[in-house]
Amino acid sequence: MEKKSWYRKIPKVDMLLETEELQAAVEAWGRTPVMDAVREVLADFRRLIEQETDESILLDVLENLPADIFRRTKKICSVNLKPVINGTGTVLHTNLGRAPIHSEAAASISKIVSSYSNLEYNLQSGDRGERYSHFEELLCRITGAEAAMAVNNNAASVLLVLSALGRGGETIVSRGELVEIGGKFRIPDVMEESGTILREVGCTNKTHYEDYEEAVNDDTKLILKVHTSNYSIVGFTKAVPAKELAQLAAQSGIPLVEDLGSGVFINLEKYGLPHEPTVQEAVNNGVDIVCFSGDKLLGGPQAGIIIGKKIYIDRLKKHPLTRALRIDKYTVAVLEQCFLEYLREEKAVKRIPVLRMLTESYEEVRKRAERLEQLLKEKCLPAEISLCDCMSQAGGGSFPETEIPSCGVSILPEEISVTLLQERLRKLSIAVIGRVSQERFLLDARTITEEQIPEIAARIKQEQILDKERLTAKGGEL
Ligand SMILES: *Cc1c(COP(=O)(O)O)cnc(C)c1O
Repeated sequence: MEKKSWYRKIPKVDMLLETEELQAAVEAWGRTPVMDAVREVLADFRRLIEQETDESILLDVLENLPADIFRRTKKICSVNLKPVINGTGTVLHTNLGRAPIHSEAAASISKIVSSYSNLEYNLQSGDRGERYSHFEELLCRITGAEAAMAVNNNAASVLLVLSALGRGGETIVSRGELVEIGGKFRIPDVMEESGTILREVGCTNKTHYEDYEEAVNDDTKLILKVHTSNYSIVGFTKAVPAKELAQLAAQSGIPLVEDLGSGVFINLEKYGLPHEPTVQEAVNNGVDIVCFSGDKLLGGPQAGIIIGKKIYIDRLKKHPLTRALRIDKYTVAVLEQCFLEYLREEKAVKRIPVLRMLTESYEEVRKRAERLEQLLKEKCLPAEISLCDCMSQAGGGSFPETEIPSCGVSILPEEISVTLLQERLRKLSIAVIGRVSQERFLLDARTITEEQIPEIAARIKQEQILDKERLTAKGGEL
């Protein structure tokens, strides 16, 4: 058939609107998105006529136009941001939203945002209040700091601190700490942006106290220490402890600022993890300002938390950038809930999902893996299913060298490729994300919850994820 006659076959919009599928679509989502979908699907079809020589394919698409339009409309009208099941074993997975928060913290958001709140209103005095007031005292109690605030994320904290305290002068940093955190966040670039002049001292592997001491001059505004979260220098190395730098800063009348990256309030060594400098240690070392992320090891919402001496925090609160970087009420609500958990360490370790996952024993994780293995095996799927020891990671630039012994389930499909299995699981209404290891698909049970285990098994069966031909799959999407 000629292309021209194919173009003539394209149905009129009125005719399409008469079909059962489009009537149902209009009923469900209204006329406007349906008309958008019609235009888009027909435009795709025209392009296909232009390119495709196989007439059976064209015929198939033609017959399925109403169903395609229905699906397209549904897609236009459905939410795109949705929960996924993280089977990667990476606890702080930046692409999967970093730290999940616990259910009470999540519930606090819905209460606060669906109503008015005392966000910036002092209920005692009836005057204007401060949004940080809801957690400032609590945070000071936990960390031992004099004052606290929070901004949008930790990259913003560093930008704010350097802009407010470093502008128009020099900031001293060790060459071993001029790091790139990822996502284009590089300490030297942030410095330039904030208008402070970078004064590098020492060498990549070694920086001595004298290096800092000699660099201090009348133009020095602050000393910055950066926790090299995502890499480590081993061997012939030296960094100057914060305690010594704090003395130097105090003698010179300038603040010592420490970017801790991942903030932790708990000594994680007790739970079998490597030592990660805690926020309290930084405060005890005499650091004047400490900043850290809310959604890394702390296990809270995305935020940049800044704590320290009141004279400096007050200056930060008044800086114009603070307004541009401010946190919203959702974040305030979750931060307060999260800090409340930390009043009891044993409780925090069990209830804050990030801490629970990181500190859970191999045996506990293995129990969940066994359950998943058993449920999958019961369903007689065309695949080789086995329990599999693996290694989880903290992620988010934390503990870069640490692998946590873990357990999961590996799946080797018999009828389809591992890549197709991975793709099908990714396209489920609740996506299941895993990784490919030794040519098998692997789900690490450390980052999968108890409730998700039967859900995963049921979905794999119902949606015929492992079958060569999926009966319910028309047009490639369920
Ligand atoms: C992760 C990190 C940041 C950036 O924190 P975000 O909250 O992701 O903006 C800054 N500094 C260090 C040392 C970090 O590890």
